[in-house]
Amino acid sequence: MSKKNRIRIYVETDLKENIKVVCDEKQAHYLLNVMRLKIGDEVYAFDGKNGEFCCRIVSVGKKNCVLRIEQKFCDFFESQDLWLLFAILKKDNTDFVVEKATEIGVKKIVPVVTDYTSNSKPRTERLKTLVTEASEQARRQDLPQVAECITFKELLKMWDKSRKLIYLDESLGSKSAIEQMPKCEPPVAILVGPEGGFSQKELEILRSLDYSYGVSLGKTILRAETAVVAALSLWQALAGNWQ
Ligand code: SAM
Repeated sequence: MSKKNRIRIYVETDLKENIKVVCDEKQAHYLLNVMRLKIGDEVYAFDGKNGEFCCRIVSVGKKNCVLRIEQKFCDFFESQDLWLLFAILKKDNTDFVVEKATEIGVKKIVPVVTDYTSNSKPRTERLKTLVTEASEQARRQDLPQVAECITFKELLKMWDKSRKLIYLDESLGSKSAIEQMPKCEPPVAILVGPEGGFSQKELEILRSLDYSYGVSLGKTILRAETAVVAALSLWQALAGNWQ
């Protein structure tokens, strides 16, 4: 197996060389039945703080398997302090947004209930599973944190003003994303509205904050999930993280 196509799993155990880690039923199913690995085969594991290690399957049980941690493969590196705040979407679109935001490298994902949010709240546990799988696939070293759903009002009440807030506003034709984004160094958050957009009251509040930056992504109205991917990508590129 080339290192490029390496099979990676996230484990909650603190990793170091020469210890053994027991994989749970779901991980064992993935390694043994989906990837068809056997005793002696190589797997890579990361724990979100100590980097990534080359491991070997040393035993297989009915519902688990054991990895021996061999040498360190790469050091831990942390994602930029970029948060995604998004108004809750339909289930499939929420899943898409969570997966893409993880791949693009956000540090925290916050589902938000806004005035025009009509979709039911996603289960945080399910979003955490999506984040883990996307991080494994994307070769991230850390997992983004998934916050519980929060209302727009509560979100601003607990806001740390040192974190800049970029909100996407399709009515702000003159404020170009290219002009606004570079000012927004980390810590920063990008807020995307629901399918019906932000309410007038929410927009007035957002425009009045001294730590907020309204950004337009052009004249066309993007689906919320498209706007998430476009804004995160633009921020990463302009911040110089995509070299
Ligand atoms: N209220 C709009 C309407 O029905 O005309 C549509 C809202 S849009 C589908 C969902 C969200 O994506 C918006 O609240 C905004 O945050 C973001 N968005 C979509 N297109 C955008 C653009 N061109 N510029 C900035 N934000 C955009």
